[in-house]
Amino acid sequence: MLRDIYNRPLKDLRISVTDRCNFRCTYCMPFDEYEWIDKKEILTFEEITRLASLFVQFGVDKIRLTGGEPLLRRDLEKLISKLSSLSGLKDLCLTTNGSLLAEKVSVLKSAGLRRINISLDTLNPEKFARIRRRSDLAKVLEGLFAAKLYGLHPIKINAVIERGVNDDDIIDLVEFSRKNGFALRFIEYMDVGNSNTWTSEKLVSKREILERVHARFPLREVGREMGSAPSVDYEFTDGGGELGVIASVTEPFCSTCTRARLTADGKLVTCLFSATGHDLKKLLRNGATDEEIIEVISPIWEKRTDRYSHERLEAMNSGRGYRANDHRKIEMISLGG
Ligand code: SAM
Repeated sequence: MLRDIYNRPLKDLRISVTDRCNFRCTYCMPFDEYEWIDKKEILTFEEITRLASLFVQFGVDKIRLTGGEPLLRRDLEKLISKLSSLSGLKDLCLTTNGSLLAEKVSVLKSAGLRRINISLDTLNPEKFARIRRRSDLAKVLEGLFAAKLYGLHPIKINAVIERGVNDDDIIDLVEFSRKNGFALRFIEYMDVGNSNTWTSEKLVSKREILERVHARFPLREVGREMGSAPSVDYEFTDGGGELGVIASVTEPFCSTCTRARLTADGKLVTCLFSATGHDLKKLLRNGATDEEIIEVISPIWEKRTDRYSHERLEAMNSGRGYRANDHRKIEMISLGG
């Protein structure tokens, strides 16, 4: 198993299958146009599967497909089918905005997908349109319930909370998730990429989110799954299910981060807040052998020193302050969430 400078093993791989998205969420990719990755630079399913199988050899046992919007990638089920048969892989998951899920869930399930994360930040249709700026809430809800109908489990809802935008939706989202058996994950608003207008004032901390929920639905802490998951999990004391909070800003978890990311054009990235990646596609397309690719990947992980969120918090707590756009970061659309 590969370990980095801080002894963190490589266990998870997040694969962005496209940088395209049919939404323009204000907190993620607010602009109409980006410098899109040229289609011929996007990894093929064969290339993704080959790299994934090498990562599994390194000890990766969990893969998440993301984007951009992964369901925009044509025939995604073919990739799911290839990946789900990798021996050694214990968990294959997909993060989606849900808008195309109702029409695709059946083939995704047949291809081997067992669980799913769906992004949903509000149940208010007008607010949804303001945040997402394309598509509509009804399509996402249709996708969410289709996933339930087809027996995907767990179905996690990812809700990014932004002050003054949807912090008044926290309790509605909790009630909705409890009622329908979804596992809700609140995510602190992060300064991913350089396109959103993140400031610390827009952040609603884990502590504040939990205080609001606990006042209405008392909670008990369960902890982090496997000790290294991004989310700290809680259960409702009345048996009404569970809830998690991902507090990358106020309670960074870099010290237990076991995640690598593969961009849609084949760059290996070792932190969500990285400025650059390492080009693996060039190796693939220049005919490198598996051994040669492994020789490139190993030192990248072994020399990994990333602890961006800890450094951010240190800066926020120091007199220096922290200005998100002083740091160039790869956009979330290429990197995958
Ligand atoms: N298109 C898919 C979706 O909407 O779920 C997958 C890609 S999206 C980049 C992955 C996750 O990143 C989503 O759950 C989204 O809410 C989260 N995300 C995007 N921008 C974020 C931000 N600024 N802060 C926190 N989470 C963010």
